[in-house]
Amino acid sequence: MSSSSIRVRFAPSPTGMFHVGGARSALFNWVMARQSGGTLVLRIEDTDTSRNKPEWTEGIIRALAWLGIDGAEYEGPYFQSANLERHQEALRDLLGQGLAYYCDCTREDVVARTGDSHKGYDAFCRDRDLGPGDGRAVRFRTPDEGQTTVVDLIRGKPVFENKVLEDFVIARSNGSVPFLLANVVDDAAQGITHVVRGEEHLSNAPKQQLLWEALGHEPPIWAHVPVIVNEKRQKLSKRRDKVALEDYQAEGYLAAAMRNYLMLLGWAPTGDREVVAWEVVEREFRIEDVNASPAFFDVKKLRAINGDYIRALPTADFVAACLPYVEDAPFEVDQGVFARLAELAQTRVAVLSEIVPMVDFAFLDEPAFDEASWAKAMKEPAAEILAGAEETYRDAPWNADELKTRLEAVGTGFGLKLGKTQAPVRVAVTGRTVGLPLFESLEILGREATLTRIAAARTRLTT
Ligand code: GLU
Repeated sequence: MSSSSIRVRFAPSPTGMFHVGGARSALFNWVMARQSGGTLVLRIEDTDTSRNKPEWTEGIIRALAWLGIDGAEYEGPYFQSANLERHQEALRDLLGQGLAYYCDCTREDVVARTGDSHKGYDAFCRDRDLGPGDGRAVRFRTPDEGQTTVVDLIRGKPVFENKVLEDFVIARSNGSVPFLLANVVDDAAQGITHVVRGEEHLSNAPKQQLLWEALGHEPPIWAHVPVIVNEKRQKLSKRRDKVALEDYQAEGYLAAAMRNYLMLLGWAPTGDREVVAWEVVEREFRIEDVNASPAFFDVKKLRAINGDYIRALPTADFVAACLPYVEDAPFEVDQGVFARLAELAQTRVAVLSEIVPMVDFAFLDEPAFDEASWAKAMKEPAAEILAGAEETYRDAPWNADELKTRLEAVGTGFGLKLGKTQAPVRVAVTGRTVGLPLFESLEILGREATLTRIAAARTRLTT
């Protein structure tokens, strides 16, 4: 791509929760704008009032801010609903040039004539010279001959035969201008040089390019980014897959990790790297290098990347990032205790919400026993180990090393390795077989609570 300034846009329709595919398109555009000192325009395509909701618009704006799309290269949000007059002007222009015509055919009329409900419009009204009137739509007169070549930075130069492009609707019978034209009019008015968007719009590109030309503008350069699929190679869908960016944010994915991962959906930096600093992304990304084949949304990879970002956080930032999760949990948190536990947890969580089941034991009056963990750990000689632990911990110097040495000694008496000896104590104190390092946890929890819990578990064992 040339380094001259470009103007790109992100033009979502607020018809649902903002999803990861939209976020990926926004980021690709954002990086292109940043690289060239150009501009990313956010235009909310909000003309379909029956399907739009203000909270979805707000969700889009919030999500882009969360991803870090802001500052000098960002312009907006604009709202397409403010541009209705210029859409009508363009319509009049096309009608005036004879490049569009009125049509009163219903879908049923067309099917009755063509005998095929899958066929496009048969151009019946093309030469009927209908004027405006109730129930009349307007259609664009696509050329009968020739070809439309779309210059697409990802897909090369796909060529479309004009004769297969139907005379598509550019004004509905109620007078409103649909997506195909409104989108072009606004892109042209906003000086957009590159249209980077999802592959599902590739088939719209030749029609839209004809509109750009008909309206007297130089068409943009296109780039249709690949579809995103799940592990079954199905297109991501909000019914089947977790696609809402907000859900990932709520679960505790960090914006930087999300941004990093989304950039890898169709693109890869040099070297075999997955965790890529944003400066590297901005240095290396080239829209031309984006792969045209479907991109797999690999939640495991995303988790792993997020875990890396979490581990790289300064501890204080990690603790602060976790706080909202524990504050939402049904227990009172002692901040000092939490900070010490969180430090142990930082290398062990892949998403921030995982902090809660790791630390809850320290703040609940009694541990929340996971019954499967209980059944697994409380096997012979669990009762004896718990008794031994209670005994030896009563007067132990209260630090992790000492607690470990003493429990190890209890286990040796039964010919058990430390791992096996730990299990009943861990379940007695935390309620689960997995969690933070046990002896550090006991040290933080304190002698009194530890002994109370061991005693309670011994009682539970015998009842
Ligand atoms: N509003 C359209 C959509 O959300 C925009 C498509 C485009 O980027 O041109 O699908």
